[in-house]
Amino acid sequence: MRDSTNSLPGPIKFCGVPTEELQLELSWLRQTARDIVEDPAVAVSTKQQSLDYINYRAAPIAAELARRKEQLGRFAGGSLADPWPDAGVHKALVNTARRLKQEVPLSSYIATTFPYSGLRQTGRATWTGRCIFPDHDDTTPSLVVYDDNRFTCFGCDRHGDIFQAIAVAEGLERFADQVRALARWAGNGDQP
Ligand SMILES: [Zn+2]
Repeated sequence: MRDSTNSLPGPIKFCGVPTEELQLELSWLRQTARDIVEDPAVAVSTKQQSLDYINYRAAPIAAELARRKEQLGRFAGGSLADPWPDAGVHKALVNTARRLKQEVPLSSYIATTFPYSGLRQTGRATWTGRCIFPDHDDTTPSLVVYDDNRFTCFGCDRHGDIFQAIAVAEGLERFADQVRALARWAGNGDQP
């Protein structure tokens, strides 16, 4: 198994990741959770599955932020006053990420960027192809892409959204870089 934050599930590396990057990713995940809860088109069972996955990604980030905050408070003489601005400072980037996630179909991105996947539509709202993770030698199509911009590989049990797909395609570990890369991709008219 490749040791990478892109290879979920697995250890998520926070060492050297700036606090504001973690805050950005957490605010993105929380916004995504709110979007899912508020979307009447998403079935209850799908909602729960999506929220479980978001929590799986968000919980260790929230724990790491709490740990850093406590550490900083200790150094600052015991004060636990918020030592950094609210995650709201990243609102613009999170809004861009939301817009892109709505505008760019994940199926188009994967079909174009990972031709090996052989992705094709197999249901009203599902596409099937071979896994996009390079360490999964997927001989049978195990990857399912849903029209709400999520994917699941039933072979290696990894999930993700369009930003995980970008992370795999371009080797980008930071959420902010993934958002910028998707903006570039969407702006270049690369979609089929
Ligand atoms: Zn896989």
